[in-house]
Amino acid sequence: MAFPLVPAHVAGSIFDLTPEALRSAGIRLVLADLDNTLVSYEERLPSPALRRWKEALDAADIRLFVVSNSRKSRRCPDFCAALDIPCVRHAGKPGISGFRRALEETGIPPEAAIMVGDQIFTDIWGANRAGIRAVLVKPIAIGKNPLRAVRYAAETPFRLAGKRRR
Ligand SMILES: [Mg+2]
Repeated sequence: MAFPLVPAHVAGSIFDLTPEALRSAGIRLVLADLDNTLVSYEERLPSPALRRWKEALDAADIRLFVVSNSRKSRRCPDFCAALDIPCVRHAGKPGISGFRRALEETGIPPEAAIMVGDQIFTDIWGANRAGIRAVLVKPIAIGKNPLRAVRYAAETPFRLAGKRRR
């Protein structure tokens, strides 16, 4: 396996992952982080653009499934219900049990899945450990949280390594 902290692909946002590109890569399942990947920390519900993207995935017969570490009891279920998609919350990334559960529930093998997320040390590391191609996106908003800024800085070498790989 490649170095486990380096993503297979780097994208600006989830919207760069078009159904056509996913289909041609043999992808039938998109596992996605929630916070700062599908939605900012400040918002509670899916944006119109996200709803359109999800409908386009539906039309291409590609499943969307959230694998989130969120510990807030209602955030992930409420968001995913609004988008009509399943979720694993409290997934314990970079542990692989949340990824396994999503694969089991959908019956889709890891090679037909990707994981898209904004964090190297949870999303990318976990997906690589689970044998799932990892796509790193830019966080939607770092905001004013200083810890998030420090973490983003620590992730920079791996973001760049993923970019070079592309
Ligand atoms: Mg995130």
